[in-house]
Amino acid sequence: MLNNLKIRWHQGSQFIPDVTKASVPGIFKGRPIITTAKVDEASLADLCPTHAISMNPCSLDLGKCTFCGECAVQFPKKIFFTSDYKLSSNDREKLIIKEGEDLLIQMNPALIREEIRRLFGRSLKLRQVSAGGDNSCEMELNAANNVQFDLSRFGIDFVASPRHADGIVITGPITKNMAEPLERCYQAVPSPKIIILVGVDAISGGIFADSPALNREFLTNHTVDLYVPGNPAHPLTFINGVLDLLRKRDGNFSFS
Ligand code: SF4
Repeated sequence: MLNNLKIRWHQGSQFIPDVTKASVPGIFKGRPIITTAKVDEASLADLCPTHAISMNPCSLDLGKCTFCGECAVQFPKKIFFTSDYKLSSNDREKLIIKEGEDLLIQMNPALIREEIRRLFGRSLKLRQVSAGGDNSCEMELNAANNVQFDLSRFGIDFVASPRHADGIVITGPITKNMAEPLERCYQAVPSPKIIILVGVDAISGGIFADSPALNREFLTNHTVDLYVPGNPAHPLTFINGVLDLLRKRDGNFSFS
């Protein structure tokens, strides 16, 4: 018994007390900043494997970025990555980082459906669909429920059946073979329901965007409620995004 207590004392608290203020290791690539330094923008845009960088003015689309970091390596005076992991938004436009701006990525309150906070603010059950995913975002979503991140403390859980879910979390670029199962899974979720896209592949197709093996019609037929960038998305990016979607507008963290 004494030994067990010693081990427990030695381990300390495993969970992150406040997931909104946690810090991440310096190697983590979060929200990028684009300076106003003059560089050869055409070469910069050209080196990006997913065409995430646009010119005149220079901007970077987090929904297309694989966070390979090559732009920051080749043009360190123009682009650098911060450790800010709060990258999620319900507004696709807010994922575009513009030259000379250092703005936090936030939700667009006008796009949040009223029933989302009213019905799911205290309890949200999600069904995960890997639509051609490579298991990276799926592993991070698993990690979101481990003892450190402890997603379920907020009343947010993953469930096995879409019949028990309030929404779906999609990972992967949505392959042709997964298009119909994804649609059927979504139809099996009772209304009202939400859609969350996790990772660059789900948001834009990522490096597979031009592949003929994809069928992303699902996204033109249904409204997405939350975009969670990353490659893969970090558990803190996912958790903070979902909390921001559900949280009341006064910013109350306790779902009062
Ligand atoms: S880090 Fe993102 S924007 Fe930069 S080159 Fe890689 S994919 Fe493109």
